[in-house]
Amino acid sequence: MISKNKKVLVVFGTRPEAIKLAPVIKALEKTSNINVLTCVLRQQKKLLDDPLAVFNIKPDFDINLPFGNSGLLSRGAHIFKKTWSGIQVGFGILRFLGILKNKKPDLVVVQGDTSTVFIVAFIAFHFKIPVAHVEAGLRSGNKYSPFPEEINRKLTCSIADLHFASTESAKRNLLKENIDENKIWVTGNTVIDALRLVTESYENDVAKKRLFMFFKEKYGVTLNKPNQKFILVTAHRRESFGEGMKNIMEAIEELASRLPHITFVYPVHPNPNVREIVFLKLKNVENVILTEPLGYKLFSFLMANSYLILTDSGGIQEEVSFIGKPTLVMREITERPEGVSFGNTLLVGTDKNRIMGEVLRLLENKEIYETMSKKHSAFGDGHAAERIAEVISRL
Ligand code: UDP
Repeated sequence: MISKNKKVLVVFGTRPEAIKLAPVIKALEKTSNINVLTCVLRQQKKLLDDPLAVFNIKPDFDINLPFGNSGLLSRGAHIFKKTWSGIQVGFGILRFLGILKNKKPDLVVVQGDTSTVFIVAFIAFHFKIPVAHVEAGLRSGNKYSPFPEEINRKLTCSIADLHFASTESAKRNLLKENIDENKIWVTGNTVIDALRLVTESYENDVAKKRLFMFFKEKYGVTLNKPNQKFILVTAHRRESFGEGMKNIMEAIEELASRLPHITFVYPVHPNPNVREIVFLKLKNVENVILTEPLGYKLFSFLMANSYLILTDSGGIQEEVSFIGKPTLVMREITERPEGVSFGNTLLVGTDKNRIMGEVLRLLENKEIYETMSKKHSAFGDGHAAERIAEVISRL
């Protein structure tokens, strides 16, 4: 399908995409018959700088898609504003079209499920450029949850030529949608590669010291007092905006007041819809530390050293398999069922009492805590990117 010296264009726009594609870029760069080009379509202006620096990626093309807080519909309108080659596009996308036209890549690689991933695949299709989809086949079965990711995945899948599935169950989802089995490779999730790379490249004790020093200096809290436990929180999913986020905040507020000896560390996502409610509810709670989004290295060590994690993130559900951390997932359904069946993650939804009940149970019940602390490799062994590069180099 691809010519001898292959030009592969890797495109990404958000923090999780950068983290998950970094190992793929590194593996492709090591492959002799591949010329890698990287293009950032920035949906998140600041959040991308850290993973780019951590993995030492200097994008060949760096394009802003300045959506601001305009919501999905006006984002769509922004992207689909001007006409080019039969499809409607905005200014940032026009630049991207220029790259495809001038560089003529043999393959475009995208990862995950944002609207930009789908749009990039759709544009590549118009240029008749093959598309590889990393983390293909995740399905919740509910088109509105996660929103709009579930549909973005399906649409991307219908365009993609190569499907890199993280797990066997993702492969089964693809087969159910009649994707040709010869176009699917089960590789493991590249987020485990990323986490392995950052944790291996650091001496654990040094990292731990730095982590605790950072919190002491920046936020005036000591996270490593004897018997000190801290709970790591992240929550920013669109489906939870409104009632869900309000419930989550109230659960944390009440837990913090009932458990004054426990610190809650919450790196707050920059989305204004998230920040508003988080700061409104939690900014004056003494044992809740609200931080800016943290760099990936720092965040990885924070995950590893926390007592448990409360999150609605997709990537974190996968990462905790590698570190063996009990994780309560504040979503009603998950497209990552392996975490639940292997026991690290438990779905708790966004009901205040349920969240509180499960946190208290994990604090009180050692047996359950131990069971949920086991590591497993259901999401991969940390070598997914090599497998992906190998498949691409063979084409
Ligand atoms: N993460 C990070 N700093 C933070 C919070 C998260 O580096 O302050 C990392 C986290 O380890 C994971 C990724 O960002 O790899 C998850 O991103 P997010 O939750 O935004 O997206 P999702 O995974 O839900 O798509």
